[in-house]
Amino acid sequence: MAAACFGTPDDVKLAAFCVSEPDAGSDVSSLRTTARYDEATDEWVLNGTKTWITNGGIAGVHVVVAAVDRELGAKGQASFVVPPGTKGLSQGAKFHKMGIRASHTAEVLLDEVRVPGRCLLGGKEKLDERLARVRGGGHARSQAAMKTFETTRPSVGAQAIGIARAAYEYALGYGKERRQFGRPIVENQGVAFLLADVATEIEAARWLVRRAAWLGAQGQATRAEGLMAKLKAGRVAVWATERAVQVLGGAGYVHDHPVERWYRDAKIYDIFEGTEQIQQLVIARAISGMRIE
Ligand SMILES: Cc1cc2nc3c(=O)[nH]c(=O)nc-3n(C[C@H](O)[C@H](O)[C@H](O)COP(=O)(O)OP(=O)(O)OC[C@H]3O[C@@H](n4cnc5c(N)ncnc54)[C@H](O)[C@@H]3O)c2cc1C
Repeated sequence: MAAACFGTPDDVKLAAFCVSEPDAGSDVSSLRTTARYDEATDEWVLNGTKTWITNGGIAGVHVVVAAVDRELGAKGQASFVVPPGTKGLSQGAKFHKMGIRASHTAEVLLDEVRVPGRCLLGGKEKLDERLARVRGGGHARSQAAMKTFETTRPSVGAQAIGIARAAYEYALGYGKERRQFGRPIVENQGVAFLLADVATEIEAARWLVRRAAWLGAQGQATRAEGLMAKLKAGRVAVWATERAVQVLGGAGYVHDHPVERWYRDAKIYDIFEGTEQIQQLVIARAISGMRIE
């Protein structure tokens, strides 16, 4: 579908997934960006403002989630591929972040952006069917944004684990080298037991991530598992990197060592692709089967 929309995937070096908006972060069902179908030209016309978008405005291809029928909330939304060079899509403000500074984050402005009908992911026939079913009171799963997050959460968790492991390994190495009171600091149980806990938590989070990824690769639903993996991995990354700073002492607080950067980088894993609280909320709904607000 994507290839038919914008040529060959080789044309694209960077991609952006545009969901969040100034007034719709955790509450994805309240998106204000609209998608209007122009029957005369078989084009979709997108209007709105996206915010916090990784690679926003510099990506070759942007995938935009927009409301086709705002009254239907998340069930009235669809995803559109915006091919490279499409008129009307531009970068807004660029954000200056506390961490992951090598990653570009910016607003994406959509002003009468016209994309060919074939750039609607899933196709119009299926969308029309889904909208008709929802309008008739029938059941339909939320659209592609949620499904995309289900598949990306294990890989986002894996990134968090990578940062946690880097910080842990660095702190362990430093602890073996740095001597105080006539011995390596790691020979103190206060440091060694801390590192033992960090190693154990990382391993636990890593297996949650691996299990969620394995389930996804088998084509099985990974909803709760993916959420749990991402929640745990984010928390472990924040905790492990903070503890690594502690193991280095003053050296952990300055730029000469990478742990202060990993500490700043790790925090995003509690925030993007669904905050810590939103992961908890959806896990709570999945395990209880109840409507929890
Ligand atoms: C560096 C960076 C990169 C990003 N990249 C992208 C991207 O590529 N594409 C994209 O679409 N978005 C992206 N985001 C946006 C990110 O997904 C949102 O920031 C995130 O979903 C939270 O939305 P918000 O910031 O509006 O916070 P809000 O929704 O305003 O939440 C604020 C606080 O309230 C809490 N909260 C909200 N609702 C509830 C509730 N019902 N119960 C309990 N607590 C609640 C949240 O957990 C949070 O702690 C990025 C963000 C950052 C910072």
